[in-house]
Amino acid sequence: MSAQIISGTAVAAVVKNRIRDEVAVLAAEGRSVGLATLLVGEDPASHMYVRYKHKDAHSVGIKSIDVKLPTSVSQSEVLAAVDELNARDDVTGIIVQLPLPGGLDGEAAVERVLPSKDADGLHPFNLGRLLIGQPGPLPATPSGIMTMLDHYDVEIAGRIAVVVGRSFLVGRPMALMLGAKGRDATVIQAHSRTPDLPAVCRQADILVAAVGRPMMFDAQYVKPGAVVIDVGTNRTDDGLVGDVAFDEVSHVASAISPVPGGVGPMTRASLLTNTVRLASSA
Ligand code: NDP
Repeated sequence: MSAQIISGTAVAAVVKNRIRDEVAVLAAEGRSVGLATLLVGEDPASHMYVRYKHKDAHSVGIKSIDVKLPTSVSQSEVLAAVDELNARDDVTGIIVQLPLPGGLDGEAAVERVLPSKDADGLHPFNLGRLLIGQPGPLPATPSGIMTMLDHYDVEIAGRIAVVVGRSFLVGRPMALMLGAKGRDATVIQAHSRTPDLPAVCRQADILVAAVGRPMMFDAQYVKPGAVVIDVGTNRTDDGLVGDVAFDEVSHVASAISPVPGGVGPMTRASLLTNTVRLASSA
């Protein structure tokens, strides 16, 4: 039997429709929503991601502000650019596009963003709020995954979730969200030092693969009937592929998110959700 497809593309469209309405309500109240991106250097992938972010913002009526700095810029100039955006009333959310070019400290730039304008949900203050269960902007990828699971009525409470990957961007906040009070999964956080990873993953009712290795997770990693979320984004000669061997696993899992069309669109939608929420509470 083939697994149900968990379509990030479809859920993101629903989320964007809701955001469009929320932006319109704020506009009617005379309140603006403005998303600024700060991009340093010439990395083509970063330029592409930033283009998408502006396109997404425009598609829901959010004004976007595009700040680009050359590779030759100094750390203090990067911080000064963040300060300028922090000070602008028309900027209610800010994204520092990471990574910054060599020699520049991306984490310091992210920390310079006011927590109240942190559209990425990656400021240590907001990650701390997530840790203690307080509301705030959430890291976009895991928060998009939670939205996707909810949309498909995936039961989380009482289930075993295995999250493979422990980056602060994806794996760690994902584990926190799945195991949070009220969500109540029992979470196992796995990583490159986990012994017998396939056996650990086979315990999962919900398996989140966030490693960055093309098609590493084949059927031996998946318990029959599990829900499989593929975060991996790997550019190969065959195009964009995930961390999960989709064809094989879709015969074992009960539901699976594809790459492309799964987590990626939800990450983008979550950035918009953060942006509009920050504007609402400004
Ligand atoms: P990182 O490289 O920061 O982290 C990768 C994690 O995977 C680490 O915790 C690492 O373990 C673990 N890992 C690496 N190799 C193995 C292995 N053989 N077995 C078990 N664990 C392993 O990556 P990110 O978390 O930033 O991203 C993960 C993937 O998700 C990438 O493909 C990235 O492109 C993609 N991504 C996709 C997004 C989307 O919107 N679709 C958004 C963000 C990321 P250790 O800590 O021990 O080194």
